[in-house]
Amino acid sequence: MKEKAIDELVERWVRPQIKRLSAYHVADAEGLIKLDAMENPYPWPSALREEWLAQLRDAEINRYPHPQAPGVKAALRRTMDIPDNMELVLGNGSDELIQMIAMTVAGPERKILSVEPSFVMYRMIAAFTGMEYIGVPLKSDFNLDVERLLTEIERTRPAVIFLAYPNNPTGNLFAEDDLLRVIGAAPGLVVIDEAYAPFTDVSFIPRLGQYDNLLIMRTVSKMGLAGLRLGLLAGPAVWLNEIEKTRLPYNINVLTQISAEFSLSHQSVFDQQTAAIRQARDELFLKLQSIKGIEPVASQANFILVRLEPFHAGKAFNELRQRGVLVKNLDGTHPLLADCLRITVGTPEENAAFLAAFAP
Ligand code: PMP
Repeated sequence: MKEKAIDELVERWVRPQIKRLSAYHVADAEGLIKLDAMENPYPWPSALREEWLAQLRDAEINRYPHPQAPGVKAALRRTMDIPDNMELVLGNGSDELIQMIAMTVAGPERKILSVEPSFVMYRMIAAFTGMEYIGVPLKSDFNLDVERLLTEIERTRPAVIFLAYPNNPTGNLFAEDDLLRVIGAAPGLVVIDEAYAPFTDVSFIPRLGQYDNLLIMRTVSKMGLAGLRLGLLAGPAVWLNEIEKTRLPYNINVLTQISAEFSLSHQSVFDQQTAAIRQARDELFLKLQSIKGIEPVASQANFILVRLEPFHAGKAFNELRQRGVLVKNLDGTHPLLADCLRITVGTPEENAAFLAAFAP
């Protein structure tokens, strides 16, 4: 096929909303200390790994997985204290749940609202599903600008509002009262995205059922199972029974089901690891605070946003990479993130290597 002809075909048929997007970028981390993607750095104890492999040996890989994954759901209910009267929907990562929620409410004039800067998939999935996206800026201290948010909610009447709690990439928790005002004012769904729940003591899960429009999203990625791709949505059955209809059959594969059930029956291993990450985060924060010319943001997640002196972020990012450490450069992604890097908390050794490379 001639190049010009194929270009014309693509131009004619690909939706403008998709053409305007850039694909979600994942940096090549080969050979680097990986502090860019909020992963748990700790491997499993070897006895646990052996026990897991023994279970995988019996996996019926020739069969489709259980369509509802009841064992996984029961384990998640137990470890995340989901109230018995709330329903669950599972996703291939919480990314997929965001997409399922959007597909459930999408339509002409339908809108997704979130705050900015926050998790970029809310905006991207609005584009995938043909919805309009409204991003309301946070205040310069990364708290919710509640008055502006309430005005925008009233003006745009969004079908769904996504709020990450703690927020990515800023790491802070929004004020509980502010979130309650948003839930009270929203004409549609409010999804509190608790992806970073393992690194904070607060949660909206106890409030499930108190509001007709409140859903909570969680993931097992950050606690130490990013490779499984498993997220969950919890909320009233009347909502979740509708969202469940958009779930592709068998989205939670056989290996994920066995591995999730197994690993969640050893929750204490993850509790110890996430407690170590929280401690390492607080130590890293104190050390970053003592470095002249930079400003770390207090975090309730497993990463720390750091603001550098004007125009220093790109250079610092490249120097870190040359010295073997990969972080996330957020400069240029949003005005409030100018000169900012996001550092995922690693092991104490990795954090020391980062500090040595960052402020030698
Ligand atoms: N929500 C937030 C706030 C995130 O930061 C992320 C991942 N970076 C996700 C959801 C998606 O997590 P996953 O698809 O791994 O469950």
